Amino acid sequence: MRPKLLIATNNAGKLREYRSLLEGMPFDLVSPADAGIKADVAETGKTFEENARLKALAFASLSKLLTLADDSGLEVDALASEPGVRSARYAGENATDADRISYLLVKLKNVPREKRSARFRCVIAIAKPDGWITTCEGECAGYITLEPRGTCGFGYDPVFYFPELGKTMAELVPEVKNRVSHRARAAAKAREILLKIARESVI
Ligand code: IMP
Repeated sequence: MRPKLLIATNNAGKLREYRSLLEGMPFDLVSPADAGIKADVAETGKTFEENARLKALAFASLSKLLTLADDSGLEVDALASEPGVRSARYAGENATDADRISYLLVKLKNVPREKRSARFRCVIAIAKPDGWITTCEGECAGYITLEPRGTCGFGYDPVFYFPELGKTMAELVPEVKNRVSHRARAAAKAREILLKIARESVI
């Protein structure tokens, strides 16, 4: 039987991306719902790394499974790297992706194109139930557009312009986003770590 890897997120968009980014790995990927776990870990860290560690350790301890968690978000230069670790809660607790995008665009109302540089960052933490943990990260640079474009992806994708492909992240089909995104870059490193764990069979 293949070992299980818990993908510790309640975000359907992230889960979908990890199922694709970790395809072919020698693990059966399970969601918190599959594992019968209902937990919301308070993201009290000041950095993506701290929050990724908090989530991975909490879920590994609850599930007794090898666990992958990430913390990710958007840093906008004109807003002193906001929303950063507050990306999910930027427009309040019950806000939707559309609310967060509107809030961001209002904040950047008077900021000209050339000063709208931003980056997505993703830190992945991989933890074992015994408390062993390691992290890796990826980032992706771009600009915040003047209005949303595209219907793929999730979160801030419709307003994140990726200059290398001349499109917003939401205009990229999943196979393309999953080659270039911050999460794809972090996941490529996570794959190496997971392969090493599988080879050592010390889960
Ligand atoms: P968390 O990592 O669950 O704390 O949430 C990160 C938040 O950052 C998400 O809810 C999104 O708003 C945003 N975010 C993270 N990754 C992406 C992405 O790939 N595209 C668009 N928005 C993202």
